[in-house]
Amino acid sequence: MNTIINKMNNNATDEQAGLTDLFSRTISYLRVSVTDQCNLRCIYCTPKAIDEKLACADLLSYEELLRIIRIAVSMGIKKVRLTGGEPLVRRDIVSFIRNLTAIPGLDDIRLTTNGILLPQLAGQLYEAGIRKLNISLDTLRPERYLQITGKDYFFRVWQGIESAREIGFSPIKINVVLLRGINDDELLDFARLSMTENLQIRFIEFMPMGDAVIQAKERYFSSEEMIARIETLGTLHRVEARNMDGPARIYRFEGASGSLGFISPISHQFCDRCNRLRLTSEGRLRSCLLSDQETDIRKILRSSGTDEEIREAIVETILNKPKGHALLEEDGANCHGRMSRIGG
Ligand code: SAM
Repeated sequence: MNTIINKMNNNATDEQAGLTDLFSRTISYLRVSVTDQCNLRCIYCTPKAIDEKLACADLLSYEELLRIIRIAVSMGIKKVRLTGGEPLVRRDIVSFIRNLTAIPGLDDIRLTTNGILLPQLAGQLYEAGIRKLNISLDTLRPERYLQITGKDYFFRVWQGIESAREIGFSPIKINVVLLRGINDDELLDFARLSMTENLQIRFIEFMPMGDAVIQAKERYFSSEEMIARIETLGTLHRVEARNMDGPARIYRFEGASGSLGFISPISHQFCDRCNRLRLTSEGRLRSCLLSDQETDIRKILRSSGTDEEIREAIVETILNKPKGHALLEEDGANCHGRMSRIGG
């Protein structure tokens, strides 16, 4: 505990106070999976075996989530992302977000969604205080959307993106997982979209994790190959990342309205800069997306644990944060976690 809660001396500013791990990484970002439920069945995310739903009682309640987040913020967490499953399918998500935005010191709350419920909820989410959205969309073709996700919701998502733009969310980032032989022929279409629309199109390298329906190796497409192909459209200019921008490498075509982001967990490990913790929908804290080591916070909460015990559990998780992920070395053997419960 001593080395971790790095509260500076009395002259310290809030910026300086924080959580530092054994490899001198400052941990300031918490990703929270608010539900394991999703209204899509994406072939690369949904497990082969029928996935059992968590019982309601196994999910962290909103009160429990707020308590953990409040404590984490008091320790140095500055940014929270809500994810899932699909976060917008959880009942009363908007009132939860209202309570979240009231936590002192938490000024950066973001949401990752598949966008299906945005046409109904975008206005309420904006009023509740969310400004930054990541919307997942792996294809611009309605029939392919059905093939990838199992649901015919392409136009709803598109309408969701339009609603979010009209209401004023900014930035809006579109997450695309590029899969060889499935949607890689749309790479240039997505890249062109960034020329005309004020969107950041983020290409995420496919990670072989969990027990998804499709096999990883033959589908993997590296960011370098994407960049090389995209450059056939024109020169890409590197954009300097801002502090809270995360691990994406950002580029822009000359004069483009939007930008392109490349997230390369496989080809350009960014573990040395990783500032993240993840809270799973059943209340386990993970220090690495790709390592199954978890701390059971729900157990502490439900056995009348004190705030101090929760703090200690957060510290312990950070102390155990691995230096880097071992996905390639161990052929994924260390990561069996379900994306829907962890939240990506
Ligand atoms: N339902 C929300 C959504 O669709 O954005 C949030 C949860 S989803 C698990 C978060 C992100 O993880 C999505 O952009 C999804 O495409 C991505 N994802 C899921 N499985 C992945 C994998 N094996 N490799 C890379 N990204 C993955």
